[in-house]
Amino acid sequence: MPQQVDVTAGAGHVTVVGAGISGLAAAHAVARAGLAVTVHEASGRVGGHLCTTPFAGRRAVDESADAFLARVPDATALARAVGLGDALVAPSSSSAFVWVDELHDLPRGTVLGIPGDLRSLLRTPLLTPRGKARALTEPLRRRHDPHDSLGRLVRHRFGFEVHDRLVDALVGSIYATDTNRLSLAMVPQLAALSRSRSMFSAAHRAAGAATTGPVFFSPVDGMGALADATAANATALGARITTGHAVSEVAPDGTGWRVDGERTDAVVLACPARAAAPMLHPAVPELGRELGQIDSADVVIVTVAVDAATWPSRLRGRSGYLVPKSVQDGVTAVSFATQKWEHLADGETELLRISLGRDGVPLTRFTDDELVSTAVTEVSRHLGADLAPREVRISRWPASFPQYRPGHEHWLSRIERARPRGLTLAGASYRGIGVPACIASGERAAAAALAHVRGSAP
Ligand SMILES: Cc1cc2nc3c(=O)[nH]c(=O)nc-3n(C[C@H](O)[C@H](O)[C@H](O)COP(=O)(O)OP(=O)(O)OC[C@H]3O[C@@H](n4cnc5c(N)ncnc54)[C@H](O)[C@@H]3O)c2cc1C
Repeated sequence: MPQQVDVTAGAGHVTVVGAGISGLAAAHAVARAGLAVTVHEASGRVGGHLCTTPFAGRRAVDESADAFLARVPDATALARAVGLGDALVAPSSSSAFVWVDELHDLPRGTVLGIPGDLRSLLRTPLLTPRGKARALTEPLRRRHDPHDSLGRLVRHRFGFEVHDRLVDALVGSIYATDTNRLSLAMVPQLAALSRSRSMFSAAHRAAGAATTGPVFFSPVDGMGALADATAANATALGARITTGHAVSEVAPDGTGWRVDGERTDAVVLACPARAAAPMLHPAVPELGRELGQIDSADVVIVTVAVDAATWPSRLRGRSGYLVPKSVQDGVTAVSFATQKWEHLADGETELLRISLGRDGVPLTRFTDDELVSTAVTEVSRHLGADLAPREVRISRWPASFPQYRPGHEHWLSRIERARPRGLTLAGASYRGIGVPACIASGERAAAAALAHVRGSAP
């Protein structure tokens, strides 16, 4: 359940900047606590990177995120709190491939790509005999590595192939990043494994201890429904949400703040750090400078509908595939949406969601036609079948994936030191890009804002 804070109704006012899921979760938590809250959103709709629209005869097909992790509580709890508890569905398939010259099964028993099952490691055709032999030396390798780089650690412990074909393929796709430049500390599950004498044994234990039940959930009407329901619930509790208002200035004013000249008691900045930087620059220059430092990556999702009769039978019941960087051109991953989500299947067409883009690969210079052509040509080659899309949709998400470089935690500490009282930060730029992490950050920011308004902030 969102954090409840005991605040007397009418006792103050909080302004939230940004109506992505982080800002909406913050506004919902503030409104539930009985305080007045205003949300300013620059675009014409709520949800930010959560966006679901009709496609190929379906009512609701996600244009970006299509699920949230169910094994941490935050998103499931918010979905239940805003009335979507009975509308949650889990993927019917989670068995993915990795494409290296052809499609290979992702080996069983891995934890974010870290091998934990000896038999599947030995059997997988994804790794060469040499790559497997190198991986098996992992328990003998020196444990200590002062560099905060996931890729560097994995190559040191397991060798190039496990890094390229498993860990970077999977984690690099989740974060749209090059894991050589990804902070290990910001992937807590793997940071925990790295502290064991053998990551292989720790992955084996972790995979064995994994609880049963769905790993992912989504509202049946897509992830946009979570944003819409959170906004509707917050509004019903008294929140005021204005769209089409790009905030340009946030400045301290006595014990409170001014947001584009409007007085408020506390502010939650739930827009990307780069967007927050110029708002703060005139009044809180040090914080503005720090927030402007973070890099991000562009991602594009090309969704295609193909004739179901042409769908290869060997791909039935499979959720999609990943493409390791060593063999990557434009496409980084493909989700077989109608195989993954039963409610999207109609027997007429199969839907594929094709991802392009990652850190260091700017996509804004390509036209829609170029991106669609790249997606269709490459996926046809990967699947060994000519894709003949009946319908195509392109969803561009420029600068959508913040990059957690090695040392990201130090950046967070500097921000914390530069942050004035009454101003809190939430969102994907900081401590996790997944929807549950964003919701948790919004709810934490709301709790801090409420504590400030109550005068009990430390
Ligand atoms: C293609 C794609 C696929 C993804 N897949 C998944 C997935 O399957 N599962 C998962 O858990 N996560 C996934 N993610 C990540 C997740 O969706 C995002 O990290 C999360 O939605 C970010 O939420 P947010 O509220 O922090 O930021 P945003 O969604 O970026 O919201 C910030 C809001 O601030 C607004 N804003 C910016 N500047 C201003 C301003 N000056 N004034 C007012 N408002 C402003 C923006 O318009 C925006 O609406 C995916 C992301 C993308 C792009």
